[in-house]
Amino acid sequence: MSGCVVPESEIARQYSIAESVRPMVAGTKACIITFGCQQNEADSERIAGALRLCGYEMTESPDEAKLIIINTCAVREHAEIRALSEAGQFKNRKERERDLKIGLCGCMAQQAHRREQIYKSYPYVDFVFGTDMHHRVPEIIKTMLGAKKRFSFISEKPHGEFGVVSEGMPVLRESGYRAWVSAMYGCDNFCTYCVVPHARGHERSRAKEDVLYEAKSLVESGYKDITLLGQNVNSYKGGCSFAELLDAAASFGGEYRVRFMTSHPKDASSELVDVIAHNPNVAHHFHLPVQSGADRVLKLMNRRYTRAQYVEKAREIKEKIKDVSLTTDIICGFPGETDADFEQTLSLVREIGFDMIFTFIYSPRPGTAAAKMEGQTPRAVSNARFAALSEAENAIAQSINDKYLGKTLRVLSDGMNKNGVYAGRSTQNKIVTFDKPVPAGEFTNVKIITAGGYALSGEVTE
Ligand code: SF4
Repeated sequence: MSGCVVPESEIARQYSIAESVRPMVAGTKACIITFGCQQNEADSERIAGALRLCGYEMTESPDEAKLIIINTCAVREHAEIRALSEAGQFKNRKERERDLKIGLCGCMAQQAHRREQIYKSYPYVDFVFGTDMHHRVPEIIKTMLGAKKRFSFISEKPHGEFGVVSEGMPVLRESGYRAWVSAMYGCDNFCTYCVVPHARGHERSRAKEDVLYEAKSLVESGYKDITLLGQNVNSYKGGCSFAELLDAAASFGGEYRVRFMTSHPKDASSELVDVIAHNPNVAHHFHLPVQSGADRVLKLMNRRYTRAQYVEKAREIKEKIKDVSLTTDIICGFPGETDADFEQTLSLVREIGFDMIFTFIYSPRPGTAAAKMEGQTPRAVSNARFAALSEAENAIAQSINDKYLGKTLRVLSDGMNKNGVYAGRSTQNKIVTFDKPVPAGEFTNVKIITAGGYALSGEVTE
């Protein structure tokens, strides 16, 4: 296994610290507010597990909590502003309630310039901790209880050199049937726009035995949808290839689904495509971020594949996995992106036919190479490109989804959604609404009657 594994003795020390603080916090309510990606959601479940071990009672309502932890995202400026404004909301309450404690963690907390801003402008934030400190939550709580001043738990190493793998700390999962399982952490790719390698450290994989033990335990306790997570999950190196790990995680017997995210096109092997095609428990959904259809921009982004190589991989996926849903991420307005480059992206979108595109307007991230590049694209131009992409994709998604009309899909129910409609997900990760109550966490067959670009709708046939 690669990476720096936290010794068992250190985990035992954290358990003993948790025991020592329990009498002081038992029954106190704590709330975690999570921004950002699935990795952050998974991290919040680990933080919640450690807080509960310390004796906290978790609540979804910040109003009733005496400990609020904001788990931040730094991938786009917008997410950072939202997290800071969330922190700002507690300013008045903190003045009234001296026993209210506010902590901030996640990718923003890992960045020195943001920490400086928090220290200067957010005096009511009591502590910050970094992305590889989750196993030390008991120690953080103990420090908080005795602290006379604000403090931080951060690995202060040059980017790309920090990061640990810890096993054995508890996880408090939000769902009783969908679960995140981290396969690896960090990223070594240094795409020029991306803050992840700077905020989450170098790539390190969990041992395959640990990943599979966690996945098997989840399946045995009734989980039906497991997502293997990693910033660049295909470069997994925990004792086997990622394809082998995925195959093994989907082979415990019984009906359940295994998904994965996120993949880098340069690491998406044919072996992986074959596993998805042949193992019935692997979901038929491939999220493969392309980011741009222009070779010139891909090079500026340091993506390390060409448009032609991406197209070939997409073809292989579609040929081998007949009912696959292929989704992608695209950045518009990358520095120096010309109209001709953007036309290349539009033509790629039409050539491949993605089921869904997550389009992002480029947001310069301090510390990344792209933030220093010349030719930052004016916002109005990026907005126009965003609109053009959305329009093109809407038509494509509609025509793809129309092909499901009359077909029956196996759907994992999420029960009734907030609009009062029964809904779930197909193996392609399509949202499917249906007419009869099916308990959350149960599979059902749904015959598709209507199709929109974003969701399908039908009748339960069993
Ligand atoms: S592969 Fe993904 S996480 Fe890694 S640097 Fe590139 S965009 Fe960021």
